[in-house]
Amino acid sequence: MSDTIRMVVATHNEGKLAEIKRILVEDLGEDAERIELVTAGSLNLPDPVEDGVSFEQNALLKARDVVRRTGLPAVADDSGLIVDVLGAAPGILSARWAGVHGDDAANNRLLLAQIEDIPDANRTARFRCAAALVVPETDDGRTEPPYDIHNENVELGDMQGVIIRAPRGEHGFGYDPIFVPDDQPARAAEAGHPLTSAEMMPEEKNAISHRSKAIRRLVPSIRRLVLHNYVQ
Ligand code: IMP
Repeated sequence: MSDTIRMVVATHNEGKLAEIKRILVEDLGEDAERIELVTAGSLNLPDPVEDGVSFEQNALLKARDVVRRTGLPAVADDSGLIVDVLGAAPGILSARWAGVHGDDAANNRLLLAQIEDIPDANRTARFRCAAALVVPETDDGRTEPPYDIHNENVELGDMQGVIIRAPRGEHGFGYDPIFVPDDQPARAAEAGHPLTSAEMMPEEKNAISHRSKAIRRLVPSIRRLVLHNYVQ
């Protein structure tokens, strides 16, 4: 039994790894040192097809895929924007709302055009994130893929806000320039107007974000299923 446990973050984005690491250090204290986080990208793992119909399903399928391939515990997240007047769209289609995966400017333009006539009071929306933990079976003697799954958990986090009428801010990604979170940092008062999540510094957004909340809610199961119950 080794003292350090390898856990895979099912992403190719090193920024997500850093965010998860920060939360584990904050919430697990020195126990966080026992977990060595690596990205799926650094292990050259392929991205599975995200054919789930909810954030929870997509987060779970990404984490399960990593576990089956590696036999290591895995964390995955899936997120998107829910606009009330659009009946919860773009939802799981957020990344490709305007037709091309990851074209943030086109997605923002289309969304703004769709709700152009909607009055301010009805432009409510929220970012939602599902964070999943999947843990492999370790006592079935398997030494090669596909590894079996022992246990899993998925948690949700929301960031509530409104969609404004024109983009503002240079930070963040996706719909950040057109989204004003309800929770605002103290310095918004100095700015004289509420900040979009693209006008917030990364730490300001992390303090209120859907992703931080979902990952933070996953920490008790990481403690239970990975730190306390796991032999590697
Ligand atoms: P992912 O699941 O984190 O890759 O997010 C899917 C899509 O949802 C992104 O491509 C963005 O369009 C949108 N999205 C998710 N989280 C955020 C956020 O924090 N800010 C802005 N857009 C986001």
